Amino acid sequence: MVLALIERDGEGVLTAASADVLAAARDLADDLGAGVGAVAVGDAGDLPDDLVKRGVSTLHLLRHELLADGGPATVGEALAQLVAREQPVAVLAAATDAATEAMAWAAARVGVPLATACTAIRPGPGDGDRPWEVTRERAGGILLEDAVLDAPIRFATLGTGTRTPTETAAAAEVTVRAFVPELDAAVPRARLVERRARASGMTLATAPVVVSGGRGVGSAEGYAVLEELAGLVGGAVGCSRVATNNGWRPHADQVGLTGTRVSPDLYIACGISGATQHWVGCMNARAILAVNTDPEAPMVSRATWAVIGDVHEVLPAVVEELRRRSGG
Ligand SMILES: Cc1cc2nc3c(=O)[nH]c(=O)nc-3n(C[C@H](O)[C@H](O)[C@H](O)COP(=O)(O)OP(=O)(O)OC[C@H]3O[C@@H](n4cnc5c(N)ncnc54)[C@H](O)[C@@H]3O)c2cc1C
Repeated sequence: MVLALIERDGEGVLTAASADVLAAARDLADDLGAGVGAVAVGDAGDLPDDLVKRGVSTLHLLRHELLADGGPATVGEALAQLVAREQPVAVLAAATDAATEAMAWAAARVGVPLATACTAIRPGPGDGDRPWEVTRERAGGILLEDAVLDAPIRFATLGTGTRTPTETAAAAEVTVRAFVPELDAAVPRARLVERRARASGMTLATAPVVVSGGRGVGSAEGYAVLEELAGLVGGAVGCSRVATNNGWRPHADQVGLTGTRVSPDLYIACGISGATQHWVGCMNARAILAVNTDPEAPMVSRATWAVIGDVHEVLPAVVEELRRRSGG
């Protein structure tokens, strides 16, 4: 059995990253002649109907009152207990912050290593008992490392956006099993105290266009024109770390190594130099348009297109032209 720890969004829908993980788990299980089990926290909701199409035969629901507002440590502890009972050949999860932390706790509890942000997992020859090989992202994704994963149960997280899920042979049905772990109230190191809905439905991670601003925007007020442009093209606003450090934008808007990785159709980098730590967050965009006063800025040389100019002049002109074309 290959187990996949899956996550749901605020609406209870399987996240795109977890759909990728299930597809990878299915591929791996096919190679090994094994089945796929999914692990989720809480109630089943609509999951069984979705999972059956993805070739999942068993859904394990982690159920415990401490899991309701528990942090990744609690989930990791529960997962470790499930793994001890099920003895899967591998446990996969998306390389999100929460899942990576839960997997790290679980792997430590089980006493095996965790390979993070893998882009490929290759089981050892024969029945898969020999060491496995993985390719994984390092330094925020600008380097790929080939490594050996030698453990009786392989724990790995998958880099986001590394696989596009395809429809797979449906399982006959999904068996739903509740698993109630033994949790001590002393285990939760972090507790979820509040969920806040985003003001707009568009998230950085899913927006087709991201209009992002850096130091060159100059102030919190300077982002008004970026907001306007994003609204006109159906996009979301992002920023560099300088903008979050200066308190111009919330951290949730930050793109980069310590922010969100985005992969929109178009990334518009306004007054952003293109430091490596920012670049790794936007390098998967299909096209990049840089607006910068410095023709030598790394973002300008790497961008698909560049406008050499002041954001305070270029952006208002673009907004005005878009408004004119759309009839005001
Ligand atoms: C461990 C670590 C993690 C980090 N994580 C991140 C991260 O996740 N995301 C991130 O963004 N950074 C991150 N950083 C910081 C990163 O190294 C850079 O310092 C940061 O990205 C620079 O932001 P910037 O491009 O806005 O500013 P700058 O590098 O100062 O660049 C400003 C750019 O704006 C241009 N400009 C200035 N005025 C104008 C104008 N009026 N019109 C047009 N262009 C103009 C300039 O020519 C310049 O190219 C991290 C750093 C470390 C050490």
